[in-house]
Amino acid sequence: MGSAGSPDLAALPALETRPKFIFFTDFDGTITQQDSNDFMTDNIGFGAAKRKESNKGVLFGQRDFRDAFQEMLDSVTTPFDHCIDLLIRNIALDAGFRAFFHWAREHNVPIVVLSGGMEPIIRALFEHYLGKTDADSLRIVSNAVKVRPGKTSINEEGGWTISYHDDSGFGHDKSLEIRPYANLPADERPILFYAGDGISDLSAAKETDLLFAKAGRDLVTYCERENVPFTTFRDFSDILATVKDIVAGDLSVKDAATGRK
Ligand SMILES: [Mg+2]
Repeated sequence: MGSAGSPDLAALPALETRPKFIFFTDFDGTITQQDSNDFMTDNIGFGAAKRKESNKGVLFGQRDFRDAFQEMLDSVTTPFDHCIDLLIRNIALDAGFRAFFHWAREHNVPIVVLSGGMEPIIRALFEHYLGKTDADSLRIVSNAVKVRPGKTSINEEGGWTISYHDDSGFGHDKSLEIRPYANLPADERPILFYAGDGISDLSAAKETDLLFAKAGRDLVTYCERENVPFTTFRDFSDILATVKDIVAGDLSVKDAATGRK
């Protein structure tokens, strides 16, 4: 318990350094150039055609994302450590992310990664691209990996399966993590940013002050349909330029939400 006037750091861990801004972000396809789960499915699982067919069912509301995603991952039976090796060799970091990461740390803008993927994969990719110390400093809220019933290790054939973060239809409802910050009294509430590329980012984006939606991706269309203010980005150098202006007081979040460029 904090003293009166201190934030509850258990529910609001990103407030630890008393930031004026917090940057929430998706991982796959946003911080990385490719989606790691799609990559595994397409190359060592049931393949791209079946994945896209299954995604349509989700988009048309015939089934929950979490069930489709579970089925997709269950088609990957490669030992987990081999999956990580494969992803490290094939998934590239966004070209501007490293510079954004260092700027954010120097300017007390905590980065919180909210992902519908699996934390050990995300940590392994960050360690590969940023080094262990910097990777360890990132807060990641995501799903876990567990040993499949009847197996003894995630690193054996068919040995792993996803362990979901919560009971929501997405497996991980990203808005749950953001809401306690969004609901802070106005004089204590930091400005909240969010960056993403897909449909699971929409509920999260609605809680924040400015959404960066990846140019050319589905999220742009959803935002227009649902009237969520946003701006687009091609890579994190675009995000850095805008966030810098806002932090310096030269641009308001309202004026930054220019929509599709
Ligand atoms: Mg994504």
